[in-house]
Amino acid sequence: MDDLFLKIIDRQIPADIIFEDDQVIAFNDISPQAPTHFLVVPKKRIPTLNDITDEDRLVVGHMVQTAASLAQQMGFAADGYRTVFNCNEHGGQTVYHIHLHVLGGKPMGWPPYQETLKQPVAQ
Ligand code: 5GP
Repeated sequence: MDDLFLKIIDRQIPADIIFEDDQVIAFNDISPQAPTHFLVVPKKRIPTLNDITDEDRLVVGHMVQTAASLAQQMGFAADGYRTVFNCNEHGGQTVYHIHLHVLGGKPMGWPPYQETLKQPVAQ
């Protein structure tokens, strides 16, 4: 199975790991989109958010709690931060093992997408 994040969990590929317990691992994103950008990843392989089952509720909750706890420890929780789960093609998912992006250290823009409206041609 070609799962990049399982390879990081198994130490087959190096990563800048900032937290690990029996359920999740967190490491810095290789291509940071903010001054701080890390990923919280479950050790269980769940390909997309669409594949989450009732038995995954605890680990997904633990991912979110881990993100908030690390933001607190890293000192940017009070200023605020962005958390993102990308899902499938339209969501921009590129690694099919769910992961929670945590971005902090600067104000984030919103919304992430704006319709390009075709302006009517003036007569
Ligand atoms: P997605 O696009 O699936 O939501 O996010 C995948 C993320 O994984 C991207 O932000 C990408 O930069 C990151 N990534 C891809 N390959 C690696 C890698 O080998 N190491 C680390 N640390 N991050 C990676």
